[in-house]
Amino acid sequence: MSNITVCARFRPSNSKEKQNGNDSGCIRNIDSETFIFKDEKDEEFVFSFDRVFYEKSEQSDVYQFLALPIVRDVVVDAFNGTIITYGQTGAGKTYSMEGPGILECEEQNKGLLPRVVEGLFDSINSLDEEKTYSIKLSMVEIYMEKVRDLFDLSKDNIQIKEIKSRGIILPGVTEITVLDPAEALQSLSRGIANRAVGETQMNVASSRSHCIYIFTIQQEFLSRDKRTRFGKLILVDLAGSEKVEKTGAEGRVLEEAKTINKSLSALGNVINSLTCGLPGKASHIPYRDSKLTRILQDALGGNARTALLCCCSPSAFNASESLSTLRFGARAKHIKESPRVNFSEEKCDTSSSAASPSRDESSARIL
Ligand code: ADP
Ligand code: MG
Repeated sequence: MSNITVCARFRPSNSKEKQNGNDSGCIRNIDSETFIFKDEKDEEFVFSFDRVFYEKSEQSDVYQFLALPIVRDVVVDAFNGTIITYGQTGAGKTYSMEGPGILECEEQNKGLLPRVVEGLFDSINSLDEEKTYSIKLSMVEIYMEKVRDLFDLSKDNIQIKEIKSRGIILPGVTEITVLDPAEALQSLSRGIANRAVGETQMNVASSRSHCIYIFTIQQEFLSRDKRTRFGKLILVDLAGSEKVEKTGAEGRVLEEAKTINKSLSALGNVINSLTCGLPGKASHIPYRDSKLTRILQDALGGNARTALLCCCSPSAFNASESLSTLRFGARAKHIKESPRVNFSEEKCDTSSSAASPSRDESSARIL
């Protein structure tokens, strides 16, 4: 069983793209999993993903397919989960993640985040066992390899540590306990507003940093000898994946581009190492190559469910960036290993982690 879901999403053409009469687009739909992509030299590629969301797709379609199964696994089975949006600036990452706004957004336009919040509370409340639970929320951004707390901008160099009982933690980061969906949305909205303030102060565009939303769900079941379980769900709105023209960029823009490129490559390498490790042989996974992969260490691969949404423009003008995004997604599909459950240290159950590695090479392919 493969525990990564990879989807592609094409946003609708924007007004500039519509005005350009020469732009016939770069995709031809085949079905809900497969499409033909045409690059700027008219070369054609067939891509298949777990699901393709074309221009008319609804936000709820994306949530139902990509996020809801992960939300359920995090709550019901205490797996960790990660949902990532990848793509060039303007491709629809933030729209998919947040929607046009976190608060006061029309129901149908709501992004993944508000839906995940509702899904988490719904899933917990639908478990009919007697339990106590808490949901904690942290929000950080990574800019130039520094982790900043979006609930407290004065904490601008948060460290990343691994502890035996809980996996990866961010010591000192603000964790807000949210008691209901409305409170969670208020907190998210505050973090997003802080992000904009911090970026204005530093004169940085939001597309140049990774934004990370971390939900920690702790459940204590009264009927199961008070066993405590933790599930961690991380959503990541990545920095834009576009290449910066070697000749055009200089100074900070060039440094930003190099740093982003390095962390996105690190993400690709981690995913690829999870894919290509020889069955039965422990291979080195280079999580420490970037802050991004280090934060995601216990939420990618063996102990986690992962979903990657590859966001693309439908325009032929952006074909080369879209092709690189789709190739990133195709490469990611081969993650192996099965997820296992997180228990608190003293009742750690390792037996389910011994599931045999399996490869799923059928779903994402470039022909
Ligand atoms: P990114 O975060 O990848 O830089 P955005 O999410 O900000 O890109 O999207 C760029 C623009 O396109 C925004 O104005 C956004 O509202 C619009 N947009 C993106 N995806 C969609 C979509 N699926 N439906 C409608 N508008 C979209
Ligand atoms: Mg964005």
